[in-house]
Amino acid sequence: MESLRLASPNSVSPKIACSRCGDDSRFWDRIAGKTFCPNCLESLAVGEGEPLVARTDRKRCAICHHLGTVRYVTFPLHSRRPIEVELCAEHLRAIVARRLGPHAFEQLRRQLTSIGMEVSDVFLLHDAFYDEHGRAIQPAVE
Ligand SMILES: [Zn+2]
Ligand SMILES: [Zn+2]
Repeated sequence: MESLRLASPNSVSPKIACSRCGDDSRFWDRIAGKTFCPNCLESLAVGEGEPLVARTDRKRCAICHHLGTVRYVTFPLHSRRPIEVELCAEHLRAIVARRLGPHAFEQLRRQLTSIGMEVSDVFLLHDAFYDEHGRAIQPAVE
């Protein structure tokens, strides 16, 4: 199984309220099965509130191929079919804090392109957060 993929078209994704604040106005990202709205992702990134505790799966990180990952699920802006990405702890923290390095960003961009998506479809990767060279321009400050 690819480490970055579209969820099965048959998988039904119900709208789930943010696990921290209960906001259910949109389809939010999920980390290890828990739902986070952008505000609560930001809090997680800067280390406010409870840290995320998640068991890792025996899968390979989409960026570095490290064995032992947590699943990040994100809903593209114009689709209800989510993108699933396996990420190691380090790269999960980096994507949430919007501070992936250019190489890591390029790895994700390439894999998104191969499934017909663009980085601009993914909230945490869009061009308010990274320039065209994949340099983080608005990292969350820890
Ligand atoms: Zn929230
Ligand atoms: Zn990794």
